Amino acid sequence: MGTYKEFHKRSITQREAFWNEQAALVDWHKPFAKVLDYSRPPFARWFVGGETNLCHNAIDRHLAERGGQQALVYISTETGQQTSYTFRELHAEVNRCAAMIRAQGVAKGDRVLIYMPMIPEAVFAMLACARLGAIHSVVFGGFASHSLAARIDDARPKLMMTADGGMRGGKSILYKPLVDAAVRLAQYPPHKVIIFNRGLDPAMAIISGRDLDYAALREQHMDAQVPVTWLESNEPSYILYTSGTTGQPKGVQRDTGGYAVALAASMKHIYCGQPGEAMFTTSDIGWVVGHSYIVYGPLIYGMTTVMYEGLPIRPDAGIWWKIVADNKVTVMFSSPTAARVLKKQDPAYLKKYDLSSLRHLFLAGEPLDEPTHRWIADALGKPVIDHYWQTETGWPILSAVLGVEQTPLKFGTPSFPVYGYDLQLLRESDAGEAGANEKGVVAIVPPLPPGCMTTVWGDDERFVQTYFTGFRDKLVYSTFDWGIRDAEGYHFILGRTDDVINVAGHRLGTREIEEAVQAHSNIAEVAVVGVADALKGQMPLAFAVVKDSAMIATPQLKAAHEKEVMDTVDRQIGAIARPSRVHFVTLLPKTRSGKLLRRSIQALAEGRDPGDLTTIEDPSALDQIRAALATR
Ligand code: AMP
Repeated sequence: MGTYKEFHKRSITQREAFWNEQAALVDWHKPFAKVLDYSRPPFARWFVGGETNLCHNAIDRHLAERGGQQALVYISTETGQQTSYTFRELHAEVNRCAAMIRAQGVAKGDRVLIYMPMIPEAVFAMLACARLGAIHSVVFGGFASHSLAARIDDARPKLMMTADGGMRGGKSILYKPLVDAAVRLAQYPPHKVIIFNRGLDPAMAIISGRDLDYAALREQHMDAQVPVTWLESNEPSYILYTSGTTGQPKGVQRDTGGYAVALAASMKHIYCGQPGEAMFTTSDIGWVVGHSYIVYGPLIYGMTTVMYEGLPIRPDAGIWWKIVADNKVTVMFSSPTAARVLKKQDPAYLKKYDLSSLRHLFLAGEPLDEPTHRWIADALGKPVIDHYWQTETGWPILSAVLGVEQTPLKFGTPSFPVYGYDLQLLRESDAGEAGANEKGVVAIVPPLPPGCMTTVWGDDERFVQTYFTGFRDKLVYSTFDWGIRDAEGYHFILGRTDDVINVAGHRLGTREIEEAVQAHSNIAEVAVVGVADALKGQMPLAFAVVKDSAMIATPQLKAAHEKEVMDTVDRQIGAIARPSRVHFVTLLPKTRSGKLLRRSIQALAEGRDPGDLTTIEDPSALDQIRAALATR
């Protein structure tokens, strides 16, 4: 591993020289004066004084050389729409969109909340915000009005951009009523809402004076030329909310210059893309993978990005491979859950299309089990790279870095610490470094490399408290994941150290789901745990204590009540957070000091030993959990 080891070592020991070189991969309007300012740990400021812009790097700088090259290919198997935009056309659309946003009074530093399905206009909106120096906050379309309202109130956007609806599996999911409800719930609602009308909701209500039509505004700004607003490298580009252990989502704040450099470098060293080639990432723009590798990463690197609205198995399980073949995709990025979904389908689909263009398939977002890793690599006959990262980091923490060295891939492991990350596995007991094959918390010694979150939006204190105080006097960033390293240096991720669960790669806080369950008026108390699921990795499972037991007096009433509670979660957070079951009990297992014993509940639900119960207040609570689980 000589070469990669040296590459990584240099990124840590000669940090500034290393990143100074990587910074040449992007355009700077004004050169930076200093590579790193780390005078206020743990806050790192990269490329200080440099001025740049994400939209310029993603579009404008490519116009001369690749104006006629496809920049965005859009395929929807939901609507049957297929369209593409060259860099020149994308430039025109983004200018129109930027002009319409600017016309609503949005300027540098203002927030714009984007709540849109997988349509090209969502990409235009993100890039248009970047062009103006406005801070976008994209909220995944699967979130319901309550979650949306919480994100509105935290970011306080001047403008919201949405669509009449999204589509999934042939069914439309209307967004506009959710948006209206969220705006009503919010304390700091946006003044204007721009709606892209896909014709999914003939009865869509328009609120006059607030709601504006995307297509009509576009017409008004057809020839718009909106100059790029240059930002100092550390000025924020976007906010993206993610779940933690509290019910309140955290706004991950990203900078501008560091993010551009980190993405460009990752396209080269990790994803092994080449300008002019095509990348296909199957995520959603509402997640960090969508931000980094549907929108910014490939475009900054001069690649074509393929955006797909639809399921992996509709019209059949060959659709993704058809997309790869049709677009000569060289880099593909998907999730372990998707691989497990495909594994259940006829393997012939993997052989039906010409996949000779495809160099690598990358998977991330949740643990990739060894059998699935092996299956997909064999079925594709291509290297499949498991890599590990978080919303907070914006790009991989652990990965094979094949652009630097062709290290052998091992199934079930995301390989090695990526350059820039001074990664340690720390023992929880004494914060010492774990040895080979010893479990530890995956931690990063700051400064975090370029591209990682710079703070929690509006709350520096929460940033420090949340991520940097886990190990007494040691200032390290905790990923809240358990990891282990084998004798050859390969890392394995063993699961979260906190109460965050991962459903099909979507991160959800158990507290958040508990709060949603408690929004039902008959729920007194609830415990939500993540339970292993063969397809989705984990699923939430709820145990609730009701206020009025008459409402669950018969099996029929109980079933109806369970459904009502699930519907409440759908309305509060969204269907992604819906528990697989809601069991009713009269008591929850707690310690004598009143702390919920989630780990014991989880262990029982997974058929494991509940662990140390010396502090339990009333052991009969666990008997109730056992009895409830037996009813499945
Ligand atoms: P998110 O911020 O939603 O992307 O979730 C990040 C979390 O997903 C990490 O902290 C891990 O718990 C999990 N995760 C992401 N990628 C991997 C991977 N390759 N292997 C295991 N867990 C992963």
